[in-house]
Amino acid sequence: MKTISNFHTHTYLCKHAVGSPKEYALQAQKEGCSVLGFTDHCPYPQNMPDYWPEIRMSTEEVSLYKSMIQKAKEAVPFPIYMGFECEWDSRFKSWYSDELLGTYGADYIILGSHWVTTQGGNRHVYAPNIDNNSDLNHYIDQTIDGMRSGLFAFLAHPDLFMISHPEWDQQTKSCSLALIDAAKDLNLPMEINGLGLSREPNSTSRGIRYQYPYVEFWELVAEKKLTVVCNSDAHKPEHVLFNAWKARDFAGRFGLTPLENLDVLPK
Ligand SMILES: [Zn+2]
Ligand SMILES: [Zn+2]
Repeated sequence: MKTISNFHTHTYLCKHAVGSPKEYALQAQKEGCSVLGFTDHCPYPQNMPDYWPEIRMSTEEVSLYKSMIQKAKEAVPFPIYMGFECEWDSRFKSWYSDELLGTYGADYIILGSHWVTTQGGNRHVYAPNIDNNSDLNHYIDQTIDGMRSGLFAFLAHPDLFMISHPEWDQQTKSCSLALIDAAKDLNLPMEINGLGLSREPNSTSRGIRYQYPYVEFWELVAEKKLTVVCNSDAHKPEHVLFNAWKARDFAGRFGLTPLENLDVLPK
């Protein structure tokens, strides 16, 4: 069987996914997994602002996350890594570097930009709900700022913002180019996210498009010869590789060959 990696996997600890790490690992083994990385939504410390508390584990649950990942490691013959998916806010920089990657010993962290924060950190807009160009531009700048921090192994679902702006026009093209140029400059891999391929597509003036991954975005990625990674973003064990395979099928349309390992991971 051809094997594939997957570096974007959630667990029940985020409260909107189901399944333990071991359940994901055993399913991944059946479907040809070579490497599996867990990246549940990261915990925030109590003294820091949180506008999305319902989707993350608490700091007290990190030890459970670690011990469950240890059990998954013991259940399968391929390597398993522990990571977290993080938003970008410069106020969290040391929390990510010193605590998540330091104290908690995460093997890697990924940038998943789901929100834009404005007005000095007081206003938060969920990316799929962004309804004006000013917030969208802000979202792109904030994401690029996070990419530049050097903390992240890759940028998850870089074209998530297309949910709120489903037409490929001057605005969405220039936002895409800004992200793509930054990734190229930083040599930061971009993720083709298989979860988006399972969602209801949109009718646009150019035809039917997935909410994300968005065809025109990945045409530009291929043109600029960026490094890509194909992941499932699984929130259910049965999706652990199913959507990762779909992401690879999508990559094939553009002649993109995904990474099967991440440089930042311990050998
Ligand atoms: Zn999630
Ligand atoms: Zn995710």
